[in-house]
Amino acid sequence: MASESVALPFTIEPTTAPTPADHRADLIANPAFGRVFSDHMAMVRYSEGRGWHDARITARKPFPIDPAAAVLHYGQEVFEGMKAYRLESGGIATFRPEENARRFQASAARMAMAALPQDIFMTAVDELVRIDRDWVPTGEGKSLYLRPFMIATEVFLGVKPASEYLFMVIACPVAGYFGSGCVSVWVSDAYTRAAPGGTGAAKCGGNYAASLIAQRDSQTHGCDQVLFLDSREQRYVEEMGGMNVMFLRDDNTLVTPPLTGTILPGITRDAILRLARDQGLTVEEAPVAIDEVFEGAATGRYREAFACGTAAVISPIGSFRRTQGEAVFGDGKTPGPVTLALKKTLTDIQAGRTNDPHGWVHMI
Ligand code: PMP
Repeated sequence: MASESVALPFTIEPTTAPTPADHRADLIANPAFGRVFSDHMAMVRYSEGRGWHDARITARKPFPIDPAAAVLHYGQEVFEGMKAYRLESGGIATFRPEENARRFQASAARMAMAALPQDIFMTAVDELVRIDRDWVPTGEGKSLYLRPFMIATEVFLGVKPASEYLFMVIACPVAGYFGSGCVSVWVSDAYTRAAPGGTGAAKCGGNYAASLIAQRDSQTHGCDQVLFLDSREQRYVEEMGGMNVMFLRDDNTLVTPPLTGTILPGITRDAILRLARDQGLTVEEAPVAIDEVFEGAATGRYREAFACGTAAVISPIGSFRRTQGEAVFGDGKTPGPVTLALKKTLTDIQAGRTNDPHGWVHMI
């Protein structure tokens, strides 16, 4: 399902009913994550033979979908999550968007969906941010969250890859995802997230549908988040429901599970590993046994733990809990110094408060 890499002209259709400025200001002042949306959306259609066509930026609104559309039955859907930040300079930028475009292609390939050329992905995101620039909030931790996604729209019942797709981007202003303290994490022994050869490395909706029960389970155990272990032995750390996970050992080594196809290759994960190396930490991408984490938290061998991803950037972990007990880092409430330093370095780059040594900031 290769698709031609032509630049596609986007038709820009500004909404005729924009949100009044004072109402918008209220909405973006303190939005609940993912519940407030900007005025526009991007849409591009694909059909086999014709390729990508009908690219437009238009008013955000519901759209009709046939009850037999393939996505509704066989779950051919992939998505991305990224943010546009208002910089200190007043400009607006996204963070490593070409990585999201690349991962989107990889996710689509795993789900046997059409490949969206990277330039169409980038243009759709940039044009949406441009038309909705007033929706990008100002202030620490605030941003415009962008949700590119693609669904199979071919009308048929039958198990085969669809021949028609719809790519879209929607946007919502967000404040920080979690509070500023530490999160507590339930280590799931009842559920796993992905198996070797499965879809763990793809950002497809089905992975999240399958993880919801484990997330709910974590809450019934009094925790904020869930940690999944490997599906074979349930011995090694994989990732959280929506974030990668890292640990700092007492020998100043930052360790995180390797990308072996069962976890999502996080763009934040990659950035943090590079920044950690820049800061003189040793970085290890190696299997982390959950027993070692529990023992290490008790002995001081494991000093800090955090989750990382676009939504929360870095979320310090205060404790892990499992059926057999609890692993607590420090007092369980105060983020570790290396975690905080990495978070500051990364968020300073994202907000344009410091120079951008790796060329990650994409101005819009
Ligand atoms: N793992 C999962 C399961 C995720 O949903 C996410 C969020 N996309 C991540 C890790 C972190 O990825 P990123 O840093 O690219 O947001």
